[in-house]
Amino acid sequence: RFVTFEGIDGSGKSTQARRLAEALRADGAHVVLTREPGGSPGAEEIRTLLLTGDPARWSAETEILLFTAARRDHMEKTIRPALAAGRTVISDRFADSTRVYQGATRGDLRAVVDRLHETMIGQEPDLTFVIDMDPADALSRGLARRSGEDRFEEFGLGFQETLRHGFLALARAHADRCVVIDGGRPEAEVAAEVAAIARGRRVA
Ligand code: C5P
Repeated sequence: RFVTFEGIDGSGKSTQARRLAEALRADGAHVVLTREPGGSPGAEEIRTLLLTGDPARWSAETEILLFTAARRDHMEKTIRPALAAGRTVISDRFADSTRVYQGATRGDLRAVVDRLHETMIGQEPDLTFVIDMDPADALSRGLARRSGEDRFEEFGLGFQETLRHGFLALARAHADRCVVIDGGRPEAEVAAEVAAIARGRRVA
């Protein structure tokens, strides 16, 4: 089964993805833990292109194509083979990130994002954890990185708030597969809730 983690920067989703992988492995499951953008050698190269260098060198349209190209490679090389082998795949970000991030930047391209997903990716997760967090809390907890090495982290608090609400709206629209988790609690408490839900839905 295919499980994804989504949320704003600093929500703790990467930590929670790792902790769920550890919990399911402790149950004896075969788990592939992966991430986007990236998750395959080719997609990791595209990640470097996306996250470094002058952002102005691409239009929003080109950027969406790059995210989709990375996801296509990730699907072909990592996700599909793992699912076909009966493994549980856990991805730190997937298509919902493109819907929310690129949808928030260029709302008029949201339909393009959806069409590209349909024709080039064609897969939805079985279960998506949306780790919800107040962006100001994420920042004050030191969870949101401000290294400056990654251009996407230059987003201000206002934009993070827009993204947060984008993820919550998406979770409501896809309530069949999305579960919103309050990420503002201690890490172990969040991990215990996530693991209980994943086991309840028999993802492994
Ligand atoms: O989750 P991670 O920190 O690895 O993501 C890298 C960066 O790419 C993040 O800062 C995130 O804001 C950005 N991103 C994006 N659009 C996506 C996926 C990630 O802007 N579709």
